[in-house]
Amino acid sequence: LRQSGLGKSTLMNTLFKSKVSRNKSVQSNPEERIPKTVEIKSISHDIEEKGVRMKLTVIDTPGFGDQINNENCWQPIMKFINDQYEAYLQEEININRKKRIPDSRVHCCIYFIPPTGHCLRPLDVEFMRRLSKVVNIVPVIAKADTLTLEERDSFKQTIREELRANGIDVYPQKEFDEDAEDRMINDKIREMIPFAVVGSDQEYQVNGKRLLGRKTKWGTIEGKRTYFLNLLTHMQNIKDITGSIHYETYRVRRLNESNGHLESLLGSLPVKRATVFW
Ligand code: GDP
Ligand code: MG
Repeated sequence: LRQSGLGKSTLMNTLFKSKVSRNKSVQSNPEERIPKTVEIKSISHDIEEKGVRMKLTVIDTPGFGDQINNENCWQPIMKFINDQYEAYLQEEININRKKRIPDSRVHCCIYFIPPTGHCLRPLDVEFMRRLSKVVNIVPVIAKADTLTLEERDSFKQTIREELRANGIDVYPQKEFDEDAEDRMINDKIREMIPFAVVGSDQEYQVNGKRLLGRKTKWGTIEGKRTYFLNLLTHMQNIKDITGSIHYETYRVRRLNESNGHLESLLGSLPVKRATVFW
């Protein structure tokens, strides 16, 4: 998410157009007391990747960062994420606990950085610094076709340095690498961060194939499906981290807050770490 006009909706269409049956309705959350400009909407897609079917819910945050004063604009999003953890926690401690707890937890937050080519803005730093503590953040450079390859690479490097300097730990987090092989694969991903993305709902004929793409001075760019979509289909891992790290952190904090009252209740339940459902 990040600001209107950065190509969030377009990219989602590019990624899911061929694979997705746009079923399910758009749901808003009228109960959420959030500033008008940030209306959190979710759309569910059924996708199939390498034979694995899963339901992917994409939550759009139109208008994030559009206000004149964007100081606390990360708050409604933080609240939304924590509300989903809370709902899950309540189901978990419910005596008549369901066999499969409905999982509306947010597993991944794709953060769109404007393609300025300069550096992150204070809002970007603030948002990612705070949100990376509660959710997996995947930063992307929006509308990457507006930068030259040189600009893009140096922008990527600047962003990586700024993330490091500000202690922002984006997905895949180093501390959760499980073994040497894991580390090798994740290091490859880390070298590519932030992903440069190009979205389009325009089809072009390239070498006899019809592709979703974008015409630029340099030729036609195919809407990037490759690495980025691969990463999203790395979902099991993203979900594991949500379940075992981010949610656990929330859970422990909540349990401590409530004076061990919930704790004793939970103590009698079988331990369930990293609850993951497709
Ligand atoms: P959103 O507000 O973030 O959802 O942005 P939209 O997806 O509605 O896109 C806003 C405008 O940017 C539209 O005119 C798109 O055609 C254009 N746009 C979207 N993605 C790209 C991109 O990758 N590159 C360029 N150059 N323009 C894009
Ligand atoms: Mg949009």
